[in-house]
Amino acid sequence: MDNHLKNDRAAWIQGPSAHCSVIPSKLARAWRLVLLGAPGVGKGTQAERLCAHLGACHLSTGDVFRAAAANRAAAATPAMQAALECMREGKLVGDSTVWELVRERGGCLRCNGGFVLDGFPRTLRQAEALQLLMKEQGVALDAVLDYELPTDEIMSRLGGRRVCPACKAVFHLVERPPQISGVCDLCGGRLIQREDDRPEAIAVRLEAYESATQPLIEFYRKLGLLAPISAEGTPDKVFARTLKALHVTA
Ligand code: AMP
Repeated sequence: MDNHLKNDRAAWIQGPSAHCSVIPSKLARAWRLVLLGAPGVGKGTQAERLCAHLGACHLSTGDVFRAAAANRAAAATPAMQAALECMREGKLVGDSTVWELVRERGGCLRCNGGFVLDGFPRTLRQAEALQLLMKEQGVALDAVLDYELPTDEIMSRLGGRRVCPACKAVFHLVERPPQISGVCDLCGGRLIQREDDRPEAIAVRLEAYESATQPLIEFYRKLGLLAPISAEGTPDKVFARTLKALHVTA
């Protein structure tokens, strides 16, 4: 199933006035998934793989904020400026700002290709609002994948992460070092540490995850949607567990 054309996610990243490069035709099975798990468990990597495998779109709210940070016009509103300040410090952006952004992208939730939500919802209010909106739109979640990893492993994954701002490749100082220190293997770009991967911000993000996002595990368990998955080991191993949890063939 890896032969789906990759959608550029324009309607998600830039907002509903933008048009995606590929509008999926109705798939026999449009998957609608939410990924949960602390920052650093590898949700982004699993989301990318799932989307390639299932033909769905990777909907990350963090990507929307990062794209806005790189775009002067989008970052100009007071709400977005406040949101970007929260992001730099590792704090959660306020529910109303996040919800405004997701609500206006509601078309992506109805899209024929399905979706993998990564980084949203992160609070009970967001999860409740999402349930309501999806119900109004006549669509439903298939599953919520909860990636589990011990805290010391999370700290080491986040602290060692280096990313290429040019091509978005992700490296790790110990587990996946670039061939030349500080230089992207794929495009030669200069690797950076995300502002929110600095130690002060990591501590704030983990605290936010524990207090705000962990209650979602119970919320989705009660809805019968929760699938816990160990995030230990290589991305390949985690992906194999993910497909197994969804009863999808590799
Ligand atoms: P992520 O890439 O998902 O780790 O998101 C990066 C940052 O964007 C987070 O640390 C928050 O500051 C902000 N953010 C992204 N999604 C949400 C959300 N659903 N609720 C609140 N803040 C969010």
